[in-house]
Amino acid sequence: MVVEEKSRVEAMEGNQQRMEVNILLMGAHNVGKTALTVRFLTRRFIGEYGDMESVYSRMERIHGQEICINIWDSQVGEKSCWVSEKQLQWADGMILVYDICDRGSFDAVRQQLQLVRRSRKPASCPVVIVANKRDLQHHRRVSGEEGRLLALTQGCCFFEVSAAETYHSVLLVFHRLVDLVRETRALRKSSAGVRGIVRSMSAVFGKKRAE
Ligand code: GDP
Ligand code: MG
Repeated sequence: MVVEEKSRVEAMEGNQQRMEVNILLMGAHNVGKTALTVRFLTRRFIGEYGDMESVYSRMERIHGQEICINIWDSQVGEKSCWVSEKQLQWADGMILVYDICDRGSFDAVRQQLQLVRRSRKPASCPVVIVANKRDLQHHRRVSGEEGRLLALTQGCCFFEVSAAETYHSVLLVFHRLVDLVRETRALRKSSAGVRGIVRSMSAVFGKKRAE
C-alpha cells in the first residue's frame, strides 16, 4: 500500500484501526443532496438549505470500528451536472442522487455515472444510486424499476428514500456505502498481496533459470 494512503487510512488507535472514508454526493440541483447530508448528520429535516457547497466530517462506530466519514456535498448550477476531476479523485465512494419527480435529474445521474466511470473503476470506487423524495408518490416521474435497472447495469447499489420522512433509510445508505468502501479496500489489499507473492516467485524462478 502506498505510504500516503496508509497514513490516511490506518491511523492506529491502540490495536484498533481508525478508518477514514471520503463520500462525494452528486446529482442535479434541488434533488435533496443537502437534505440527505443534514439528515444523516443531525437526524433532522429542516426544509430549506441554501446553495452552499461544503465538506462535513463525522465520527461513526460501524460494526465496532471508529470511522471518520467526510462528506462532500457538491453543488451544481440549475442546468449543469459538471463534476471536477478533483472531486472524483478525492472520493472513496459516491452517492448519486435523483428526484423521483424529476426525470431530468435521473438523466443527470446517467451522465454523471459516465463521467465517474471514465476516471474511477467500480473496483476502486463504489457508487450508490439514491432515488429521493419517495414521499411525493403522486408526482412520480421515474419508476423504481428504472432506477433499479440503471443501478444493476452499472454495478451500483440502489435505494429509494425520503429525506423528508425517515432518518433510518438515509442512515442505511451511508452505512452501506461505507461497507462497500471497506470491501473494496480489503479486496485491493489482498490482490496487492497476491501480486507480491507472484513477483517474489518469479524473481526466485527467474534467477534459477538464469543460473
Ligand atoms: P440540493 O440542491 O440537491 O442540495 O437539494 P436540497 O437538499 O437543497 O433540497 C431541495 C428541495 O427539496 C428543498 O426544498 C428540500 O426541502 C426538498 N426536499 C429534499 N428532500 C426531500 C424529500 O425527501 N421529500 C420532499 N418532499 N422534499 C424534499
Ligand atoms: Mg445543496
